[in-house]
Amino acid sequence: MKLGAIEAGGTKFVLAVGTDKGDILEKEVIPTEHPDITVPKVITFFEGKGIERLGLGGFGPIDMNEHSDTYGQLQKTPKTDWVDYPLGAKLTEALQVPIVIDTDVNVAAMSEAKWGNATDVDTCLYITVGTGIGAGAYFHGQTLKGLSHPEMGHISVRRHPEDTYEGTCPYHADCVEGLAAGPSLEKRWGKKGHELAEDDKVWEMEAYYLAQALTTYIYILSPERIIMGGGVMKQKQLFPLIRKKVLELLNGYVSSPYLTEKEIDKYIVAPGLTDEAGIKGALYLAMEK
Ligand code: ADP
Ligand code: ZN
Repeated sequence: MKLGAIEAGGTKFVLAVGTDKGDILEKEVIPTEHPDITVPKVITFFEGKGIERLGLGGFGPIDMNEHSDTYGQLQKTPKTDWVDYPLGAKLTEALQVPIVIDTDVNVAAMSEAKWGNATDVDTCLYITVGTGIGAGAYFHGQTLKGLSHPEMGHISVRRHPEDTYEGTCPYHADCVEGLAAGPSLEKRWGKKGHELAEDDKVWEMEAYYLAQALTTYIYILSPERIIMGGGVMKQKQLFPLIRKKVLELLNGYVSSPYLTEKEIDKYIVAPGLTDEAGIKGALYLAMEK
């Protein structure tokens, strides 16, 4: 059986046709532009390929209640062109297949648990630090959802004493996404993320914010593994800085062998599926249904 998978991100959409065994047969990446430009390209990619179901892991907020009239509709996303855009309905209508929807980060957590760096545990968290910051959780066979889905990128963090940047989040300004996502880094320092690689101050501040967020997630959710992906995490020097700061903030309060200097590099890790966690997770969504 052929299935369709979409990883809808703020910068790019990854589209794939795969099998019900989880193999990807064909893949294409297109930029995220206005929905009137991007969505017709998505439809053209899948047309005539014989897919029987479509899994979509998308940036949020998005209506994920299957019984709602607005299932698959984007909500108050900072990507303003997409606010209230009925993505799910447009795709089902055009392709005439059922669609299964979850957040990009929930499906990434799920695919890391199935195929990646969290196959040996029952609970994990996947965080992306890219155009935005978001985290998804996979706990005992299910992704974490409730009223809506978790919005872990929009929590408050303590400001770095030397940071005067106002923050990019259109809803909260200086939430963790507003202070530490890719666009905030670029605006604060006036250079592209990859051009900042050598500047220690940049990464010390970045780790200061991300470690606070991780510490909060550890206190609230107690995941057995934390996986960090997204464009900004390509700066590998961030990992040791974040690990060190998390231990410092926890200050020994949570007892776990993982939360020690010796073991923390097995606890806060990069994705096992490198750039494929999202798209494989979207395929897994379609497989599961
Ligand atoms: P998306 O969020 O659309 O899924 P990405 O995870 O690739 O996409 O994130 C894109 C963001 O990551 C951009 O804001 C960019 O500045 C930042 N980024 C991409 N590559 C790097 C890099 N090598 N170093 C630092 N930042 C990067
Ligand atoms: Zn925010």
